[in-house]
Amino acid sequence: MTGLLIKNALILPMNKETTWFQGDIYVEGNSIKEVGKELSPDTPNITILDGQDTVVLPGFVNCHTHAAMTLLRSYGDDMPLMVWLSQRIWPREAHLTEEDIYWGTMLSILEMIKSGTTCFADMYFYMDQVAQAVEETGIRASLSRGMIGLGDKAELALRESEEFVQKWHGKAQGRITCLLGPHAPYTCPPDYLKEVMALADKLGVGLHIHLAETRTEVEDIQKQYGMTPVKLMDSLGLFTGRHVLAAHCVHLTPEERAILIKHQVGIAHNPESNMKLASGVAPIPELVKEGARVGLGTDGAASNNNLDLLEEMRTCALLHKVTTQDPTVLPAYQVLEMATRNGAQVLGLEKVGLIAPGQKADLIMVDLHKPHLTPLHDPVANLVYAAQSSDVKNVIIDGKLVMKDRHMVTMDEERVIYEARKRGQDLVTRQ
Ligand SMILES: [Zn+2]
Repeated sequence: MTGLLIKNALILPMNKETTWFQGDIYVEGNSIKEVGKELSPDTPNITILDGQDTVVLPGFVNCHTHAAMTLLRSYGDDMPLMVWLSQRIWPREAHLTEEDIYWGTMLSILEMIKSGTTCFADMYFYMDQVAQAVEETGIRASLSRGMIGLGDKAELALRESEEFVQKWHGKAQGRITCLLGPHAPYTCPPDYLKEVMALADKLGVGLHIHLAETRTEVEDIQKQYGMTPVKLMDSLGLFTGRHVLAAHCVHLTPEERAILIKHQVGIAHNPESNMKLASGVAPIPELVKEGARVGLGTDGAASNNNLDLLEEMRTCALLHKVTTQDPTVLPAYQVLEMATRNGAQVLGLEKVGLIAPGQKADLIMVDLHKPHLTPLHDPVANLVYAAQSSDVKNVIIDGKLVMKDRHMVTMDEERVIYEARKRGQDLVTRQ
């Protein structure tokens, strides 16, 4: 059994009872064994990390992204959603190969680990390559193959999704969980969604879907089916009896918020993507107050344009304060909960997102010896409002040190950047 001991760090357990304290964390295998003061476990194979001048917290959980879209970062910006999709994104996505997906995902994992993310929820295609990248790099992920229920590829998407779940659910030492990924109400008609739900139940997995992202979506679905996207999903029984991860949920009535809360739907809030595409402002302060499960996501790098959850936390807090003209909404600790513990719950991962014995050891150590983090009146406020991704010093996922002193242990950083740069450039000129 391997052991890892973090000595004398400032610990943010995210358990609501204690905000922070100075102490040690002992990790055995892939789990946290003990949290306390001056621990001295009797383990022969032990790695000791000096926690002096660092804060340790659960790794960030990115609840919604399309990892390989890093290859299309800053390829189309400042455009309306449908123009951006139809003129820039879709024509290029049509040229993506399996190898591109692998290297684009490797690039995203590199960026995520270097900014403190230890788990992500992905929806894309060629998901075998995504799962392979997750397995190799040691990160944790909830993976879903995006399914479009229109056209001649609809049945293929069902078959491939089933194969993908059977091959990867629970794999990579349990770090991979699979969800089915019906893309959205406007790309998956009701009859198709019924097939997806039946398959999810047969396989015993949940669903990951885009929901109520734009005003246009709500109006189109209303016109076509006589009810809003959330009500349409509810009428189909989509939220009943299974875990659902719903990305965006920007345009909701109070009644629709109650539906999502009643069924404990996990909501992935993507403030930067919603802002950049001018989709609107999700009613997060109301949802949180009413007891919804809300986590944070970046969405794909083509609409963000990075995968940095420290930045997403800051944006989230500031966006809702200015929109409500109330500086007391979404205080720093609540936003940090969204990026850690609540994000894990949104993905249905009960043993992730908390520093306590028995929890999975997904931990990050942030260097506090920085001008912009000095003094340290409030470590939580410093993290949410002042920290930068380059302050993340060490990253541990499933008990393994994957980044030490900002050097990647499980990845060849130079190779990933070389391959991603080459493929990104080639992709935009392919005929
Ligand atoms: Zn998305």
